[in-house]
Order: sequence, then structure tokens, then C-alpha cells
Amino acid sequence: MKKILNYINGTYCEPFSGDWLDNYNPSKGEVYSKIAYSSSEDVEKAYEAAKEAFPSWSNTTIEERSKILLKIATLIEENLDSLAEAEALDNGKPLSLAKAVDIPRASSNFRFFANAITQFASEAHESVGLNTMNFTLRQPIGVVGCISPWNLPLYLFTWKIAPALASGNTVIAKPSEITPMTAYLLGDICIKAGLPKGVLNIVHGTGPSAGQAIVAHPNIKAISFTGGTATGEHIARTAAPMFKKLSLELGGKNPNLIFADCNYDKMLSVTLKSSFANQGQICLCGSRIFVEKSIYSKFKEDFVSKVKELKVGNPFDGDTTIGALVSKSHLEKVRSYIDLAKEEGSKILCGGNTVTVEGSENGYYLEPTVIEVNNNDCRVNQEEIFGPIVTIMPFETEDEALQMANNVKYGLSATLWTNNLDRTMRLSKRIEAGIIWVNTWLNRDLRTPFGGVKNSGVGREGGFEALKFFTEAKNICIKYDE
Ligand code: NAD
Repeated sequence: MKKILNYINGTYCEPFSGDWLDNYNPSKGEVYSKIAYSSSEDVEKAYEAAKEAFPSWSNTTIEERSKILLKIATLIEENLDSLAEAEALDNGKPLSLAKAVDIPRASSNFRFFANAITQFASEAHESVGLNTMNFTLRQPIGVVGCISPWNLPLYLFTWKIAPALASGNTVIAKPSEITPMTAYLLGDICIKAGLPKGVLNIVHGTGPSAGQAIVAHPNIKAISFTGGTATGEHIARTAAPMFKKLSLELGGKNPNLIFADCNYDKMLSVTLKSSFANQGQICLCGSRIFVEKSIYSKFKEDFVSKVKELKVGNPFDGDTTIGALVSKSHLEKVRSYIDLAKEEGSKILCGGNTVTVEGSENGYYLEPTVIEVNNNDCRVNQEEIFGPIVTIMPFETEDEALQMANNVKYGLSATLWTNNLDRTMRLSKRIEAGIIWVNTWLNRDLRTPFGGVKNSGVGREGGFEALKFFTEAKNICIKYDE
């Protein structure tokens, strides 16, 4: 059976433990490969390689660094088909989605940050009258850690690695143990692109073992983490006493506010995506839908009928729109919210059942589910489910909609559907979230800041924000005589 090895110091290697985790194909519910179970010894080995590589990589010209990262971007593009197949097999997402979104975006991440670093500038401040000149150096931090989740495996892995490398750091990265395959394949691409050994080290294994060893390592000075809020809290507790730089991109429970004056057809088709893309396993999915009362009945009928048309199926079938959920335990967790919704007195408008897909009978499939809730305080509306489940409920006034949007512990993103400019501005300013989409969803310009407020995280990534995170600002003050 295929083994997913660590990639350390430019070569693939087995873990010190000699232990392996099972890697599942969620569309069949079968083990199809083995994952290195790494521990602190592997992380130490990766750290030594990264430390050794740092002086040379951080002094490599920006043009040369950029050239290597662009080569990685090109190689990802050239391997689009095989990487997309690997992603669909490992994660359960439709192959069409991996081809259209995940892998192209992984390539764009490298291309974007390879170019961004050539435009990254620091500031100078002349203290007129005091005869001093200040300028800011933006220096790489050293060895940094990047830890990513399973929902957008290569997409989010590269979202962290690319800016970390572009700004001159060396990296120890850990993908999710649930979806490690494309991160494993990236090692090969780095070798082909000529990335010097030790600059990027990829360690596989569980969060409590390999992940914790990265976060707790005293000389890994910055951690960029994307994952669940509870994990983020644990990471912050470990890292804070060592005063590490931390970027935490965490969970969400995003509101989707639909006003009667919106472009209805456009709203309906995009809302279908913002609810169920990637089986609803995107931190930015609009999982709480609030609809203005005057169009609520129409929306309910039209939306439910569109949801019923979605095709749950094997990720490799061309007409599949909803693939498999990522794991058995995740499927069980997501399903438990359907039972909870019933207990809470909510109404299942469609879906709610697991699906048996012919030829893939043991896969983890669930119908896209729409739940009508009667208040925003119920647990189904307050807790992150992270699956193909959305709730809907009506509102009467803009203030009521705003209050419900904000009445949640998360604050990642929000979507507004309205053609009223004044309302757009009022709500965009008042909604507690890091990202607001108006009349669109998941429209991403990589130059923009990305991140959440409240329990959705700390810090911003994206564009120069990411390059700022992965560098330390140092002010140099020079006194001169006229
Ligand atoms: P998770 O927190 O379980 O795991 C994320 C990563 O952290 C994995 O690589 C895991 O091995 C590692 N990890 C777990 N425990 C650790 C520890 N103690 N120390 C160090 N690393 C540890 O999250 P998940 O289930 O993989 O992903 C789903 C979650 O990610 C959802 O909550 C979702 O909202 C969130 N997410 C957020 C964003 C964002 O940008 N805000 C994007 C995608 C996903």
C-alpha cells in the first residue's frame, strides 16, 4: 500500500516511530494508503534542516526566490489532472471542483506571492528638525510553522507556505492527517522546481503529536494555523508563553442576509453554492440564511426545489455536485445536528438522510439539507456544523437581520444580497466579520486581507498582510549632521 512519507531536507523519509496511520478514501470508505505518524523527533529533524537552510535562503535574491516559486506554480498547473484526482480521492470532493478551484488556486498562491514579494516595500520616516532618518527593515523570522486543515487541502497548505517562503523564511508544514496526499505530492514538485533542500519540510501525522511538536518547539518562532476554533485555542495556549507570532484562521457560522430588493435569480444560484459547495465544508459557507419576510415563502419554495436537484454521488462522476464528506466521524458529527434540529423543534425542509451511492456503498454521503429554524439562538444556528446543512428563517427589519447576524460567537464572513447602496454601507460597517461579500460569494482577490474576528481568529493573511506576518519589522534610526 502506498506510503505517505515525510519530506525533510529535500528527500522523502520514514517517520522515526515506524508507525503509520490509515488514510481513507471517503468516497468508498476504504483505507487506500498509510500516513507517516510523526513525533517530536521528526519535527526536530525538520527543524535542523530548516535552520541549516535559513541563512542561505534568506539571503537568496528576491528574483531567484521568486523564480523558484513561479516554477512550483507552473509545475502545479502542469500536474493539474493528477493533483485534482489525488485531491478528490483523498477528500471526497467532486473532481470537477478540485480541477476548477483547489488545484488552480494552489498554483495561484505560489504565483501570487512570487510576484507580491517583488513589490513588497517597507517605510521610511524622516524626523524633520531632529535630523534623524528612520527606516523599517522587514526581515524574515527564521523557521516558521504552517498547519492546515482538510477541507481545502492543497489550496490552504500553499496559502501559508507560499508567503512564508517568498519572504525568506524556511518552513515546517503539516497538512491535515485526514487529507495528506497532495501535500505529499508537493514535495516532488519542489524537488523538480529546484527549491533548495531544507527550505520546505513537510511533516505528516496527527495534531496532538506532530502538530503539537511544531507549536511547542521553542525555536519555531511563528505559527500560521487554519483549523477549528478549539484547536486554535489550544495552540494559542501553547504558543503564547513563548511569545510566538500567531496567525489563527478558525471556524465560522456565517450569515447570509437576503433582502427583497436583491437580484433574485443571481442570489438564488449563488446561495446554492454558498450553502453546499465542497459539501458545505468551507469555513466561508453561508450556513445561516436570513430572508426578508416579504420574499420568504417564495425563497423557501425555490431554494428547496433547487437543492433537491443537486446530485449526490461519487466524486469522479461527471454530474456529481455533492461528493462524500471527509470522514466517517465527520459524517456522524454532521448527522447529529439533524437529530438535534428535530429535538430543538426545527423543521427539516429537505434532505436529512445519508445516501447510498451505487458502487460506493461504504462512502460517507449525506443529502444536502435545509432546516427551517424558528430562532437564531438554537444550537443548530450557533454551532459550526461544517457540512451540507443550512438553516433558513425570516426577518422583518434590517435591524433584526443585523442583530441575528451578529448574535453568534464567530465572525469570519457575511454575505449581503441587496441593491440598496445605503443599506450595503450601513450593514457592511456594522456586521462583525472580517470579510463581507455583497451580491457575490467566495470572490477572492489574493491582494485583499483575509481573516476573522471574535472566535473566528486572530490576524490577517492575504496580500501584503501575509508578507507582514511572515516578517519582523525592525526600525533603524540614523542621526545625521547637516
Ligand atoms: P482541526 O483544528 O481539527 O485541524 C486542523 C489542523 O490542526 C490539522 O492539521 C490537525 O492535525 C492540526 N492539529 C490538531 N490538533 C493540534 C494541536 N494540538 N497542535 C497543533 N496542530 C493540531 O480542523 P479541521 O477539522 O482539519 O478543519 C475544519 C475546521 O477548520 C473548521 O472549523 C473550519 O471552519 C476551519 N477552517 C477555517 C478556515 C479559515 O480560513 N478561517 C479555513 C478552512 C477551515
